[in-house]
Amino acid sequence: MSNSRKYLIAGNWKMNCNAGEGAALASEIVAEVGQQTDVNVCFCPAFTALETVSKELSDSNIALGAQNMHFEASGAYTGEVSAEMLRHLFVSYVILGHSERREYFGETDVVVNQKTRAALAANLKPIVCVGESLEQREADETIAVIKTQVEAGLAGVTAEESEALVVAYEPIWAIGTGKTATPEMAEAVHLEIRNCLAGLLGEEAAGKIRILYGGSMKPENADALLAQENIDGGLIGGASLKAQSFASLVHSAAKLAQ
Ligand code: PEP
Repeated sequence: MSNSRKYLIAGNWKMNCNAGEGAALASEIVAEVGQQTDVNVCFCPAFTALETVSKELSDSNIALGAQNMHFEASGAYTGEVSAEMLRHLFVSYVILGHSERREYFGETDVVVNQKTRAALAANLKPIVCVGESLEQREADETIAVIKTQVEAGLAGVTAEESEALVVAYEPIWAIGTGKTATPEMAEAVHLEIRNCLAGLLGEEAAGKIRILYGGSMKPENADALLAQENIDGGLIGGASLKAQSFASLVHSAAKLAQ
């Protein structure tokens, strides 16, 4: 992690926690790390828990995120939620293009790009997810896949807008499997992502963008991952559902930020 970037520890609760359970988990996390200032912290509940969780976060430094949004502002899109609707609930981050959305809901790079641009236009901070499958890694296609996802996902984003952008590298084979990329493997891809961002947005803008690692990050492996030069935080699934584990990841980042 470079001094010019602040760590971001982001929790992805996925389809877990109803409104009441979400509020309870949020309140436990606030009690542990709610006043943290050395590290940016956010978590992303399901849509139905955003309002109750938002209330729990109101006196803390923790930001609220969502897990998805539609790229249109309003209209006949049954079941969808717009950036503006999220802003009304004090949401500031939104996860876009998570591999589960790509796999189960057919999201393409084109859709991820539409969402990313809509999020930025609405003053949301998109966390744009990229990552290769096991087959792609074994076929030595990791870098090509990641480059395509970054270039297509961020097409048309300007250097100025990119200050709000976060990228998350999540190797699909490491998500929810307990298998983590080694710190060296992750850093190698993060560096490629940084170079790709520099090609798109220029060196200066690329140097400011946070690139998170996601894929079975937990208290036992966080220190080594977060110590890498181009790993600027984590997108955390399983370990974000336990206040103690999530807080421990925030503490790891805070220690390294000193
Ligand atoms: C995720 O789905 O974003 C994720 C990183 O999950 P886990 O931490 O459970 O691997």
